[in-house]
Amino acid sequence: MASNSSREVMPPRVAVIGAGLSGLVLARSLSVSGFPVKVFDKGRGLAGRMSTRHRDGGTFDHGAQYFTARDPEFQRTVRTWLERGIVEEWHGRFGSLAHGRVTPETRGPMRYVGVPGMSAVAQGVASGVDVRTGVRVEQVRREGEAWALTSETGEALGTFDVVVAAVPAPQAVALLSASPALVARAAEARMEPCWAVMASFDAPVSLPLDGVFVKDSPLSWAARDSSKPGRPPGERWVLHATPEFTREHLEETPEAVAPLLVGAFARASGLELSPRQVVAHRWRYARAEPALSEGALFDAELRLGACGDWCAGSRVEGAFLSGMALSRKIALLQR
Ligand SMILES: Cc1cc2nc3c(=O)[nH]c(=O)nc-3n(C[C@H](O)[C@H](O)[C@H](O)COP(=O)(O)OP(=O)(O)OC[C@H]3O[C@@H](n4cnc5c(N)ncnc54)[C@H](O)[C@@H]3O)c2cc1C
Repeated sequence: MASNSSREVMPPRVAVIGAGLSGLVLARSLSVSGFPVKVFDKGRGLAGRMSTRHRDGGTFDHGAQYFTARDPEFQRTVRTWLERGIVEEWHGRFGSLAHGRVTPETRGPMRYVGVPGMSAVAQGVASGVDVRTGVRVEQVRREGEAWALTSETGEALGTFDVVVAAVPAPQAVALLSASPALVARAAEARMEPCWAVMASFDAPVSLPLDGVFVKDSPLSWAARDSSKPGRPPGERWVLHATPEFTREHLEETPEAVAPLLVGAFARASGLELSPRQVVAHRWRYARAEPALSEGALFDAELRLGACGDWCAGSRVEGAFLSGMALSRKIALLQR
């Protein structure tokens, strides 16, 4: 007869809402520790703000441009990504640009990119993880001791013991409503929007830089996306607007915004620019300003939590560290 101590204890079932880097890192870490984990994402693909768009015969990283690695745990993980070939160093020419004047960077950090696109990192992390895309979770409701998830179309998505919102802070607020304390904390992380433009050209843009911090302009950043390692040939640029410009033009159409930002790039560089194709994309929640500092949020009583870059520093590295921080908190439930 089985004794109490030898009776099998089922690990808690975990639902992760959001298949950006933080949610995937969390899901993978818990899966490896034996938790049954299911990830849901509303997007067509995974990767969230690290996704890569395919257009005009090429690719564009229209969200995160590159990432740096300062934390030792993240550095170790990046080394494994380099070994797997899903990440490479980006040895571009970096610098700043103001009113046609180029200032090359003399010493910058090591910059990493996903290969063949930024989304490769999320895809690599997601391997072996149960991810369902194309489903927006609308409701997280208590059902006895468990949580029941419902999609925006009213589909019952299952019951779980632990639920995590791995989504930008303003989107987490609705999903965390069962915990006023978590809602209050998430509401403190405000997120800035960003208009991004993807432009392809027939000929190289004659700027002696591949990654440019733009000053005194509606643009904050411009990058020769096609200069990143492992990209298809061609001349493709990604332009990012400042938060101020984006807030001012937030509800305008992509068709109205794209030429404004191409014009801003022409003025900043002093070049005549005639892109072959241009398209704009609005990131309503691009960067946390300010981000929180706790790493991740978790109510162990309710078994409800949140992670994401907005909990730990507003960048790819922060998203990774946040997912790992929450996985350690949830793993304690099994002890
Ligand atoms: C324009 C831009 C430029 C950037 N540049 C850099 C950079 O150069 N370097 C850097 O380090 N970082 C950069 N970042 C930040 C970086 O992209 C993020 O820090 C990181 O990708 C965040 O990951 P995450 O998992 O926290 O969130 P996300 O990637 O936002 O993932 C959240 C996911 O949740 C999904 N979701 C939301 N609500 C629901 C719902 N109700 N149901 C189901 N799914 C849902 C979304 O579809 C999304 O896939 C940039 C971001 C942007 C937007």
